[in-house]
Amino acid sequence: MTRPGVAKVCGVCGRFRLYDPDDSYCVVCGYDTLAAECDCGRVFDYALSEPEGSPLHCPRCGKDWRSGPGAG
Ligand SMILES: [Zn+2]
Ligand SMILES: [Zn+2]
Repeated sequence: MTRPGVAKVCGVCGRFRLYDPDDSYCVVCGYDTLAAECDCGRVFDYALSEPEGSPLHCPRCGKDWRSGPGAG
């Protein structure tokens, strides 16, 4: 059975992944810092198609997801 996935981002390592709606822990670093939407309320459906390591900004508010704390 396929459950609907939600794109979430980890506030610690900045990785975007497709998660279960109930998930709260990052698969990469293990911290429970996942967010299902940007500070501005924009969901991350745009983020999953972007390769890791490339620049990524919120299309609504311009937040830079890849060069903040935890990047690199
Ligand atoms: Zn993480
Ligand atoms: Zn935003």
